[in-house]
Amino acid sequence: MSSVPVAVVTGSNKGIGFAIVRALCKQFPGDVYLTARDPGRGQEAVAKLQQEGLRAFFHQLDVDDLQSIRALRDFLKEKYGGLNVLVNNAGIAFKVQDTTPFAVQAEVTLKTNFFGTRNVCTELLPLIKPYGRVVNVSSMVSSSALGGCSQELQQKFRSDTITEEELVQLMNKFVEDTKKGVHNKEGWPNTAYGVSKIGVTVLSRIQARLLNEQRRGDHILLNACCPGWVRTDMAGPKATKSPDEGAETPVYLALLPSDADAPHGQFVSDKTVRPW
Ligand code: NAP
Repeated sequence: MSSVPVAVVTGSNKGIGFAIVRALCKQFPGDVYLTARDPGRGQEAVAKLQQEGLRAFFHQLDVDDLQSIRALRDFLKEKYGGLNVLVNNAGIAFKVQDTTPFAVQAEVTLKTNFFGTRNVCTELLPLIKPYGRVVNVSSMVSSSALGGCSQELQQKFRSDTITEEELVQLMNKFVEDTKKGVHNKEGWPNTAYGVSKIGVTVLSRIQARLLNEQRRGDHILLNACCPGWVRTDMAGPKATKSPDEGAETPVYLALLPSDADAPHGQFVSDKTVRPW
């Protein structure tokens, strides 16, 4: 078994994830795994980094596929005996002009952004080694979407005692409410992406709390973040930040020094803790 530190970035064949891998290859003292659901696109991305003189390793990972997540888990367990850095970056967003029915957008978006991210965490968080760092890429849109929720929902999403099961129930309820056409009446905003990212931010707060309760002595730091508005296939060419600039906050959180005890369980953008 290798004692080399290891970092994994989900959805990193392009966009912000790819830029996070590039930065980690330069700064992380260990093996960096670029993962992608499509091995062809993943290998191509690894080759691109190689041309820049950087060495990333590849492992397949489709966050929508539990078998794929478990295969990565088993590989990390066997080869490294765990994991030091996990960046949950993989995500999707329908374009504003997309005419897919809202209920379908809700189900598909939540499936990857919330349930996929949660499944990766369920399988990989137990592998995180002491002083490990976990970064869940959320969005400022989670904050604006929270503001668009009913007072009752806002209270639940801001609660310091909400459980993962309660959060999962609420995310499922959103999808069901869109199918019944009652999501506005039930206090939800008109953004499936926003609700999925509320899920990611709240999940991060819950996971950080559980780490405090269950693994306090392990000094693991887990945070949600927004990369900013970044020029990628998702956000388009008018966005203000380059992918490398978008990677800065996630990489800062992934590389928090071993003597740091904060931030933890926070929502961070531009390397600054934001109120939730
Ligand atoms: P992007 O260029 O569209 O890249 C998304 C990445 O996620 C791609 O590598 C994609 O793989 C991967 N992915 C999608 N579904 C996946 C799945 N089921 N399993 C594994 N990988 C999957 O988007 P981006 O702008 O870099 O976004 C990265 C993250 O930042 C997302 O979580 C996004 O919500 C968040 N974010 C972005 C912005 C922005 O302005 N760009 C702002 C705030 C937050 P394929 O190539 O196979 O599709």
